[in-house]
Order: sequence, then C-alpha cells, then structure tokens
Amino acid sequence: MKILVVGAGIGGTSIALGLQRHGIEVEIVEQVRENKPVGAAISLWSNGIKCLNYLGVGEQVAALGGRMDHLSYADALTGETLCDFPLAPVHEGTGQRSYPVARADLQAMLMEAVGVENIRFGAKVVDITQDDDGVTATFADGSTTTADLLIAADGARSRTRAHVLGHDVERSYTGYTNVNGLVPADPAITGTTHWTTWVGENRRCAVMPVAGDRFYFWFDHVTPAGADVPREKVVDELRSVFGHWAPPVQKLIDAIEPGTANRVEIWDLDPIHTWVRGRVALLGDAAHSTAPDIGQGGCSALEDSVVLSGLLAAHRDDPLAALTRYQAARTERAAELVLKARKRSAVTHGHDPEATQAWYRELATEDGTGVMAGIVGNIVGGPFA
Ligand code: FAD
Repeated sequence: MKILVVGAGIGGTSIALGLQRHGIEVEIVEQVRENKPVGAAISLWSNGIKCLNYLGVGEQVAALGGRMDHLSYADALTGETLCDFPLAPVHEGTGQRSYPVARADLQAMLMEAVGVENIRFGAKVVDITQDDDGVTATFADGSTTTADLLIAADGARSRTRAHVLGHDVERSYTGYTNVNGLVPADPAITGTTHWTTWVGENRRCAVMPVAGDRFYFWFDHVTPAGADVPREKVVDELRSVFGHWAPPVQKLIDAIEPGTANRVEIWDLDPIHTWVRGRVALLGDAAHSTAPDIGQGGCSALEDSVVLSGLLAAHRDDPLAALTRYQAARTERAAELVLKARKRSAVTHGHDPEATQAWYRELATEDGTGVMAGIVGNIVGGPFA
C-alpha cells in the first residue's frame, strides 16, 4: 500500500510519522520550496503531546517546550492581577505536561523525524482523480503521482476539501485579527514560567514561555478583515491599539523587533462531517479549520494522525474501510473543538459586550478551578482520553 500525503505541516508530517511507524510506504508532497511556518509558536496541550509521544518524538518536543507552571490574568489598563494559579492540576489531571513550542523548531523537528528526503518540496497539487485502481494527483508542472490513498493535510485553504465534499465551502471571519511573535523572555513583562493574559476592551494580549529563554506573545483585536498592514508597520498598529495598556504590555511592544511580528486574520469553518471520498481523506485544518482561542487546532491534527495511522495499520486488507472508520471516529470530536473555540472567541472579543464584562468580573474572583476545568475539558476526548 502506498499513501500520498499532501502538505508537510503539523498534520502532514504527523500522519507520515504514524504511517512510517507502522511500516506503510508514504510519499509527502509540499507546495512550498522552503518551510516557513506562519505564526511564531503554538501551545501543545497534553492531548497533542500524548500524540507526539506515541509518534516517537516525545523527547524531542519536550526539549523544545517552554516551562509553563502558572496561569495569570491581569487587567489590561491597570495591570492589576485578576487571578494567578499554578497549572500543576492540569498536568497532573491529564497525566502529561503541556508545552508551548516555537513553530519553526516544531516544524523542523517533525520534518527531521519524518526524513527531509521523504518530502518533495515545490510540488503543488492542482488536481485529483480517483478510480477503482488508485488515486492520481496532478502537480502544477503537469507531472502526476499515483497512490492507493491520498491524505490531504493541505491546510485551512485546502483545495482537496472541494474534491471530497463535491462543492466548495467558505470559511468565515471571526471578527478579530491576531498579531504574534517571539521576544526574549523578560521578568519585567511577566514571570518566565507564566502564561499571562491581559484582558480588557474586548481585546487581549498574552505571553507564554518557549525554549531558548523566549516569550511567545500574541495580541488579539477586533477589526475588519482585509486591512493591508505591511509587516514593518505591524508594531505601529499595536502601539495605536494597545498603546494605553498597562506598563508590562508596553514593555512587550517595545521588545518586538519591527518586521518580525506575524499578523493573521482569524477565520474558521463550520464543522463538516464528510472527510472522506473513496480513496481521499482530509486531515488537520483541511478537515477542521478553527479559531485558535482554545489552542487545539494543531493538537486536533495530531489526534487525527494517531487515529488514522492506527486504523490503516489495523485494516491493511481494506484501507477504504479504515478511512470510513476514521471519519466516524473523528468528526464529532473535531467539531466540538471548533465550536468551543468559536464560543470562547465570541466571549473574549465582545460579541455580546455584557457577556465579556461578566467574564472579566468572573476572572477577578477565579481561584483557578473554573479556568482549569475548561482547559481539561478541551484536552479530554482524544485518542488517549
Ligand atoms: P498547515 O500547517 O496549514 O499545513 C498545510 C500544508 O499544506 C502547508 O505547508 C501548505 O504549503 C501545504 N499545501 C497546501 N496546499 C497544497 C497543495 N495544493 N499542494 C501541496 N502542498 C500544499 N493550534 C494548537 O494546537 N495550539 C495553538 O496554540 C495554536 N495557536 C494558533 C495560533 C494562530 C494565530 C493560528 C492561526 C493557529 C493556531 N493553531 C494552534 C492552529 C494550528 O496552527 C493549525 O491547526 C495547524 O498548524 C494545522 O496544521 P495542518 O498541517 O493541518 O495545516
């Protein structure tokens, strides 16, 4: 059995790792010529880390992970702490530490684990056809590759999604834009083992530690889609939107090297429940493009990979049935995370301003129990429960 994987992001590399682990032949094709991850870092929650452990790269990801021991919320304008508590109950309750990881490090590690020589870069799939004998991908240069199955991990703007569904679907703008990047860790901003979030005015700013004494930061602000802000002007935009926020936030903005921050409009996709058509299956953002508000998009792709590779290994004699079982096993779980993230995003970003104000008041009386129950609620439900 030969499987063609389209896309070498978290989804494509992790499914390839899972298949290799089971001795299944896999070819990965990736449209870009050089890997340049969008976004600075990612929080890998326990469910995602358990998948990486299973895929054989647990030690490598632990070495890249930041040590995140505390969670704090602070008032955006005064800087006053609203709540601050240890995250140990999340790690203990789920049986696994979570790690924020710089994306470039994670991506390089996953590609290395899969074997860079197994990834064909500069290979953009432009068409897919399938029949009883196999599936054929056609590339932008006119060449073709045939395989028994094709796994499309081609991201949020997947072209393969339309092949699987038989029609196109549109993602929708959540209403906010995210600016993210990396700065040197600085205790004058917040504790170097803290995940701290400043909230107010339906916006937020947060930092998390990643390896190499760095902070991953992000800012969310409600703004129309389609603004053309050149990369070198992103820090100016942050100053104009967040310039009156508390001193640690100003320190953070000052620490950003102009031209290094990523500005990402946040779009998501209504859950879809058809992920498979014959010999073709969707995986990762191609199947469930989500807002990052609960940090579960990449973790969900890792869960897909563990489940799908396990089913294909168990049903080598009937791989099409394995794909159908994969769809049955994964769509509900992924949909639940997409909808939770959307709901969280609405509260954070003031869709109902009174609900957002109520959340700020709640944070001021929080002892950690409610917030941690929410995090654990997102984590449980994957292949390792
Ligand atoms: P992608 O990473 O998009 O990879 C798709 C790959 O396919 C790309 O390399 C692309 O070049 C390639 N490709 C596309 N089309 C073709 C084609 N036609 N031919 C060949 N190759 C093709 N998730 C978390 O778990 N935790 C977080 O904290 C978190 N934070 C986030 C913060 C932000 C701001 C954003 C935007 C997302 C965040 N996510 C997070 C979500 C996470 O980044 C994604 O879910 C994850 O990267 C999806 O991986 P993927 O492999 O499915 O898609």
